[in-house]
Amino acid sequence: MIKFDQITKKYPDGTVAVDRLELEVRKGEFLVLIGPSGCGKTTTLKMINRLIPYSSGEIFIGGKPVDTYPLDQLRWNIGYVLQQIALFPHMTIEENITVVPEMKGWPKDKLKERAAELLEMVGLDPSTYAARKPAELSGGQQQRIGVIRALAADPDILLMDEPFSALDPVSREKLQDDLLRLKKTLGKTTVFVTHDMQEALKLADRICLMREGRIVQLGTPEELLHRPQDDFVRSFIGSRDAEQRIDLAPALALNGIAAPSALTLPSHVPVRRLLEVLANHERAGVEKDGRFIGTIDRASAFRLLAELSGKEAGEDE
Ligand code: ADP
Ligand code: MG
Repeated sequence: MIKFDQITKKYPDGTVAVDRLELEVRKGEFLVLIGPSGCGKTTTLKMINRLIPYSSGEIFIGGKPVDTYPLDQLRWNIGYVLQQIALFPHMTIEENITVVPEMKGWPKDKLKERAAELLEMVGLDPSTYAARKPAELSGGQQQRIGVIRALAADPDILLMDEPFSALDPVSREKLQDDLLRLKKTLGKTTVFVTHDMQEALKLADRICLMREGRIVQLGTPEELLHRPQDDFVRSFIGSRDAEQRIDLAPALALNGIAAPSALTLPSHVPVRRLLEVLANHERAGVEKDGRFIGTIDRASAFRLLAELSGKEAGEDE
């Protein structure tokens, strides 16, 4: 769907921000770009919708070089969400959401309908919020509007640059959950930038870990956790002994509810075993003292692992 072929970006001052990048984002995939500040994530993202021109190589979307698309058509077909979204302060929420569909000439009643549908999708009641101005919303709600605005014209591609990093932890978690749901129902091809490994593990189909404009490792969350390529990856994820056991009980997705699953794990499970099972199954049952206590799924397990690795990293400092 999106293909980077030997992409290099050299800024006029000589900084090589992206260095011969080879990367393919699959159709419908949720790819997370992660890495330390300055490693080239934003530059990589902005070259996709031509906010930044590349120096050499080629980026293809749907098999065609991006610079062969008319610019407005390209931008309309790519939703873009920033860390601090800028809603138009004098426009209502409904008007803000439907900026792009309006430019595309959608009829008025369809704009209204679309805004209501999108507000409902992220749990905001249209009768309460559609007519409000941005200042009458909390930071978290405004950021939600930023996300649905990017989806308004039903683009094929969604680019998100640290969209939740300015939010408090609770709002952040809520928006991540929203996005997980949207991801399942809409299946947009998404490139999501973050510097937060916990967020990456929770959301990604694949994670692309970058350093100094290059890819260090590209793989599924379980591959990065299970088979980190080198010490850089390991340190980014947090050290973790795979034979170490963790307690699944606090992380159960469904407490006490029996999932129709042939697979059952002990609640005190070696990390390696947990990853092996979740690499192949979306969820598994959990047993404690021979009694079924609930179900663990991939998202909740990764959240638990990320929390633990975060704690360990913190203790080392
Ligand atoms: P990230 O988003 O991963 O933090 P960026 O893509 O913003 O990284 O930046 C990558 C590198 O390019 C950094 O070294 C940054 O200082 C440099 N850079 C970014 N924008 C410019 C610019 N307009 N001119 C010169 N250097 C830049
Ligand atoms: Mg950036």
